[in-house]
Amino acid sequence: MTKLKIGVLGIQGDFLEHLHILSALNVDTKIVKYADEIEDVQGLIIPGGESTTIDRLMDDEFRESIVDAARKGMPIFGTCAGAIMLAKKIHDAKEWQRPLGLIDIEIKRNAYGRQRDSFDAVINIPSLGTIIRAVFIRAPEIINIGPKVKELANFEELPVLVQENNILVSTFHPELSANPSVHRYFLTFVRSN
Ligand code: GLN
Repeated sequence: MTKLKIGVLGIQGDFLEHLHILSALNVDTKIVKYADEIEDVQGLIIPGGESTTIDRLMDDEFRESIVDAARKGMPIFGTCAGAIMLAKKIHDAKEWQRPLGLIDIEIKRNAYGRQRDSFDAVINIPSLGTIIRAVFIRAPEIINIGPKVKELANFEELPVLVQENNILVSTFHPELSANPSVHRYFLTFVRSN
């Protein structure tokens, strides 16, 4: 079996942590910074960081290459700021913000407020048969999901891990957990793609 190659968007944020977990899962990785690099990978992760910064740093060609690949079925996984970038709608968005609109969710940035800037919680993911210690850092909340979006896990009654076809998003940071189940799950659907 040829090794998968997974791209991690490397323009801002915690992309190195994703690269580490992917390497531990025995796949090849590539830091993706330019539009044409998407052609070279079978799946893409958009990491956490600061969505407004990622948004500003992404030019039109880069955006188009991601949207194009997604429409052709490439699996894409966004964590935290990456989830914000993949959303169809950002609640209270700055008027210049342009999310990629690849998953039918509405997401609210920094939803847990300052006093809870960062926390972790034990999350049950029944469909993966696992429990994960999930790290939330200035996390967004998914406040609405479309009819085709599947909720894979929730916390305090709000979805925190959701999927619509080839697009997976989490509001927490599975790359900061010792449990690689979410990445492993992403790789299974890259493999079956
Ligand atoms: N609050 C950040 C944003 O709006 C996301 C934080 C994160 O990715 N940990 O982009």
